[in-house]
Amino acid sequence: MSGAPRVFVDCALAAGAEVVLPAVSAHHVRTVLRLARNAELVLLDGHGAVHEAQLTLVSREAVQAVVGPALAVGGESPLDVTLVQSISRGERMDYTLQKAVELGVRHVVPVTSRRTVVKLDSRREDRRLEHWRGVIRHAAEQSERTLLPTLAAVTTLDAWLAAHPTTIAFLLQPGAATPLAREPRPQAAVALLAGPEGGFDAGEVERMLGAGARAVSLGPRVLRTETAALAALAVMQALWGDFA
Ligand code: SAH
Repeated sequence: MSGAPRVFVDCALAAGAEVVLPAVSAHHVRTVLRLARNAELVLLDGHGAVHEAQLTLVSREAVQAVVGPALAVGGESPLDVTLVQSISRGERMDYTLQKAVELGVRHVVPVTSRRTVVKLDSRREDRRLEHWRGVIRHAAEQSERTLLPTLAAVTTLDAWLAAHPTTIAFLLQPGAATPLAREPRPQAAVALLAGPEGGFDAGEVERMLGAGARAVSLGPRVLRTETAALAALAVMQALWGDFA
């Protein structure tokens, strides 16, 4: 089945069952990959189950497949990282999400902070979330993830901090005294807090530190917002994850 297209579905997978592909994947299978009935594919439930499958119906209205045997898979990092990313402009955010998924992130929380320049009303916010969900799904299929990283609703940095008082969090902060690479291996899930184009303001930094986040640096250069989280993920996978 290597090379077969990989598709995340929104339901549980059981051998012998017939599943209807979600609309975005159905479109991809039919009009981009141009697969026909009987084509083989790999279906994933996003929580770790991976099965062989075969298309049984390809039509404008629906694309369906019959689920085959489960495939034995590994391929997920032991590191459970949540990226709490201050929303950046259009393509930068897309890039961050796509690459973070390739680098093994498990959860993404888009947050607004004082210097976030992107303003989203609720209608635009829904559209953005839908778009980001697509970017994440696509990156997860392409990079052969078996877990589909989750995307949380947009929240404020302060609300996230208040809701996660005990999460181990690294605040990516230019000029921080401790390099990320000198931190001890985290013993549980970790969050990465990455600022927007203009960085976090002093009050936010104080509140994050007050909430127990550890300020860490990624060297002496100031990285762009879209680079910082990705560099941090690579460092963490190399030190404590599955790059080694
Ligand atoms: N002028 C801003 C720079 C923001 S860069 C400032 O001085 O804060 C955008 C975000 O990327 C920062 O908020 C931080 O989270 C991260 N970042 C950039 N360079 C970094 C570095 N060398 N070490 C740690 N984090 C960094």
